[in-house]
Amino acid sequence: MKIVMLGAPGAGKGTQSKKISGHYKIPHISTGDIFRANIKSGTDLGIKAKEYIDKGLLVPDDLTIALILERLQHEDCSKGYVLDGYPRTIPQAESLDAALATKYEEIEVAINIDVPNDHIIKRMSGRRACLNCGATYHVVTIPPKIDGICDVCGSKLVLRDDDKPETVEKRLKVYAQQTEPLIEYYRQKGKLKTVDGTKGMDYIFKNIIELTMSLD
Ligand code: AMP
Repeated sequence: MKIVMLGAPGAGKGTQSKKISGHYKIPHISTGDIFRANIKSGTDLGIKAKEYIDKGLLVPDDLTIALILERLQHEDCSKGYVLDGYPRTIPQAESLDAALATKYEEIEVAINIDVPNDHIIKRMSGRRACLNCGATYHVVTIPPKIDGICDVCGSKLVLRDDDKPETVEKRLKVYAQQTEPLIEYYRQKGKLKTVDGTKGMDYIFKNIIELTMSLD
């Protein structure tokens, strides 16, 4: 099954994508994670992407589209995938659809995790990340066992630059302008399913499985 996750930054796309990936045994592909891995290892792509990410802006379409289309060629994508953070613009969605159409394939469902902006701002200020292994936490909802320390690798947890309040506000503006139109894009194709992202993590996941199981 090929799934696209939609929703504002901080809506919970990453958390739900991981659970969906485990349930349907399909890879979880996060463009944000791919960019962060490239930044960490200092690749050309990472150096270019960092300039945009740190300002709360989207990485340009040409870089992002090439990256994802290459990733989708990998063997592990043959039975589907859950795309987390891609597409984020109409040209990205169109490029994905066009690439899939050449193989007579298509995205089966776009799941929109709907969360109002004031919830998002509260949530993101509590997020903590491990820059060493990529694990993420929340001071209230998913706290680490030891305050400020990663459960997985023992490194110090930080508030990522792109989760700082001023960057979050910028990201929400960018989301409204460039990414929100995708809701209508997938609705018009009859592929949109919306879940209430203000509910608990397990409730949302159950809801997503109910909405997708007939497609499996
Ligand atoms: P995320 O972890 O999905 O919130 O992504 C972190 C940052 O990576 C975003 O704020 C963007 O700057 C960049 N990014 C991730 N996915 C995309 C995409 N599909 N298009 C452009 N930029 C992206």
